[in-house]
Amino acid sequence: MLFIGGEWSESSTGAFFDSTDPATGEVLGQAADGTPQDMKRAIAAAQEAFPAWAAKTAYERAAILMKAYALMNAKRDELATLMTKEQGKPIRMARTEVGYAADFLSWFAEEAKRVYGQTIPSSRANHRFMVLQQPVGVAAAITPWNYPISMLTRKIGPALAAGCTIVVKPAEQTPLCAIATIKILEEAGVPAGVVNLVTTNDPVNVGEEILTNPAVRKISFTGSTEVGKLIASKAAATMKRVSMELGGHAPFIVFADADPVNAAKGAAALKSLNTGQACISQNRLFVHKSIAAEFTKVLTERMASFPAGHGLDDKVTVGPLIDQQALDKMQRQVDDAVAKGATVTTGGKRLTENGLDKGLFWAPTVITNVTEDMLIYREETFGPMVPVIEFDDDDDVVAMANDTAYGLAAYVYTPDLSRAWKTAEALQFGMIGVNDINPTSAAVPFGGIKESGLGREGAREGIMEYLDSKVLGISL
Ligand code: NAD
Repeated sequence: MLFIGGEWSESSTGAFFDSTDPATGEVLGQAADGTPQDMKRAIAAAQEAFPAWAAKTAYERAAILMKAYALMNAKRDELATLMTKEQGKPIRMARTEVGYAADFLSWFAEEAKRVYGQTIPSSRANHRFMVLQQPVGVAAAITPWNYPISMLTRKIGPALAAGCTIVVKPAEQTPLCAIATIKILEEAGVPAGVVNLVTTNDPVNVGEEILTNPAVRKISFTGSTEVGKLIASKAAATMKRVSMELGGHAPFIVFADADPVNAAKGAAALKSLNTGQACISQNRLFVHKSIAAEFTKVLTERMASFPAGHGLDDKVTVGPLIDQQALDKMQRQVDDAVAKGATVTTGGKRLTENGLDKGLFWAPTVITNVTEDMLIYREETFGPMVPVIEFDDDDDVVAMANDTAYGLAAYVYTPDLSRAWKTAEALQFGMIGVNDINPTSAAVPFGGIKESGLGREGAREGIMEYLDSKVLGISL
């Protein structure tokens, strides 16, 4: 069902589309197939609700967000189970994501109270300047399937905290997770029209309504760089503000002085995050040649040991890929690499034994002897597969790591603080893990540079994306 103006309703055509379990192909349920007209109605509802929501005190808005935070945590297991079924990630990771999703609600509930303005000295004696921060108006969130709950709260949290109302268009692969999230906000007492949901199997036309409707003043998008560029260019026609969280091609650099075993364990764990379907997952492992053999041995052993299966089984580390296209991409990258001289040390194929043939499982894969001309060196992989590239010289490896249009996350392994610091400064990425595979939290700015995005989510910066500065020049 769609949620518009505080009411659950069918789409204007009455059509529905299926949501399926990628591990089994089983139909889990249906969602209303929203139309551009439905989106238009949702935007109108958000516009109508905006003045009253913006006029609430930050404390009132924060109280509702805190209630939603408590409800989400109370329903953690239920939401995680739904997420595992609909999106495929192993249940432990789904529980972690629900916790991360809830954190954005509490973080921004607190930030709502810290939307400070400024006073600025004027050069005129009988004059004063003040700067107010005001909500931009109706915001729109377009979200991906890979983090189907936290990508919603990472946008809804700051929008509501800032005093904006919002329309949400989730990914067509994960509408049930979006419905469950919006139900929590409804139960928490978000007033009618403040949050609106249009599920759809027609993102292009429903998206077009968001992009062209002049009432939408801000679009927050998470997804591929390709679609992000299209959205940013179309949003320009009505000069909407945009935030873009796009693709990544993260380098993971292991210097000669790093412990190869510890680094390989970190690399394997990071690559198994959401079965490699994470924008911050490493796509290129650069390892100093003096420790490459040991690193590759341990990485291969660990990747080979990851149990694959339905994510509801607690022992499973590797879930299914989201769709056939994702599986085809793995096959294409492996075939291309092998044809150009690479070696597969584990995996490199679809998994079909023990009932896995009903789902879209790819064996955790390590590829060595990788060269620059291979697809896997350049393309975002988005699956449990990683190339190992040997290097000799510190300066060379930084240049190799930066040799991509993406700039989201990067990782550096070395015990030498000076080397770590200098490398982190030289890397052209928005988030750097130093001997660390998780440089994320609701409290820190998430986002990329270059073609990985624009703007930041989470942290103090996250709420600023939904606020406009307004200057008051006052003659005394
Ligand atoms: P996608 O770009 O295909 O889809 C993302 C969203 O855009 C979905 O809701 C989809 O329905 C919608 N969409 C597609 N075409 C549209 C159009 N023409 N107009 C309006 N909306 C449209 O991406 P995906 O495959 O769902 O997600 C994977 C990508 O997301 C990867 O590249 C990944 O790196 C990226 N991602 C980035 C972050 C980040 O924070 N930087 C986080 C998660 C995922």
